[in-house]
Amino acid sequence: MNPLYEQMETSVFERMSLAAARHNAVNLGQGFPDFGWPDEILEAAAKAVTEGSNQYAPSRGLPVLREAVAAHYNRHHGLDLKAEHVCVTSGATEALAAAILAALSPGDEAIIFTPAYDAYAPLIRRAGASVREVALQPPEWKIDRDRLAAAVGPQTRAIIFNNPHNPTGRLFDADELESVASVAREHDLVVISDEVWEHILLDGQRFAPLASLPDMADRVIKCGSAGKIFSLTGWKIGWTVAAPEMATLAARAHQFLTFASAPNLQAAVAFGLNDGDAWIAPMRERFARARDRMTEGLRSAGYVVLDSAASYFLCVDLEASGIGLDDESFARLAVEQAGVAVVPLSAFAEQNPPTHMIRLCFAKRDETVEAGVAALAKAR
Ligand code: PMP
Ligand code: GLN
Repeated sequence: MNPLYEQMETSVFERMSLAAARHNAVNLGQGFPDFGWPDEILEAAAKAVTEGSNQYAPSRGLPVLREAVAAHYNRHHGLDLKAEHVCVTSGATEALAAAILAALSPGDEAIIFTPAYDAYAPLIRRAGASVREVALQPPEWKIDRDRLAAAVGPQTRAIIFNNPHNPTGRLFDADELESVASVAREHDLVVISDEVWEHILLDGQRFAPLASLPDMADRVIKCGSAGKIFSLTGWKIGWTVAAPEMATLAARAHQFLTFASAPNLQAAVAFGLNDGDAWIAPMRERFARARDRMTEGLRSAGYVVLDSAASYFLCVDLEASGIGLDDESFARLAVEQAGVAVVPLSAFAEQNPPTHMIRLCFAKRDETVEAGVAALAKAR
């Protein structure tokens, strides 16, 4: 038996969604939208199924999708990627697993910024490596170069970077990107750059992939997700993007994780990426309106809401809102008694986790946001 799994709890997202279903609560916990996907992509998927795209895809992905991913990033960021840089995976979760297995050996150490997406630490440990947490401090959640550099030790081989950041909704600025890049260059580290939220930018900002910084293309493994780009989280089509040598290692790890992903969904994602970018601006506007609606509703109900500029998420400071419960107790009360599921932030760190914050998903229709806010108003 593997003690890693004997000691592991069920993921907070699964836990909260199960609790939401059990208590018939509004689900603002797990991050998925209840509107916003382009219908043409659904039609493209149905067509691919009926036209017979139903047997194993090539392990690294359908060529049409690998080319579409490369072309998409070249168009958006002026890069020069080719299909050989891309390996299609079953969601960004598998991309992270493949990247981490490719980058780390037993005995290595990897740095994560906390609060951190919950998959990083277990995957690092599964690779036989250990985790070094660098805590970001609320409410700014800024990356401090000195604190990052101080966390690098003789065994450190990788940094896991997440931009835009789940759960805080931060888009890190150019100085913070350069801090990560310069520490990686100085200590010869790989950076696994989880950029799944790259298109969910809510205030007109521009996103720069970490690999586009000087001398970073050869040391970054980017992880992307079609589920996030097209608001179809259940499709679980993602990818790694890396320089050819690293891309090959990630592809070797991937071939014995899932080998390949659903070909019909790959074909539909390729169609979506090649179909132009007209849907991106209205999607951002609708998510920004949902964020504003939730923020205003919560503030009127007396909650202290932290700023969120990207992703589907915002955080609420319970302590500053005058609530005496810790995040787990509040989350339990909210789902069991007030009828709304939220995510406690303590699930995103192991050492000194923040215990007075919750994360809410605002990527919901107006009526869902209103119902969730009304339930939260009742919970205080
Ligand atoms: N990384 C981050 C930061 C995420 O928020 C998520 C999912 N919300 C993932 C990875 C996983 O993406 P996927 O659903 O494509 O596996
Ligand atoms: N990434 C999503 C979130 O942050 C959930 C993904 C999952 O359930 N594993 O809520």
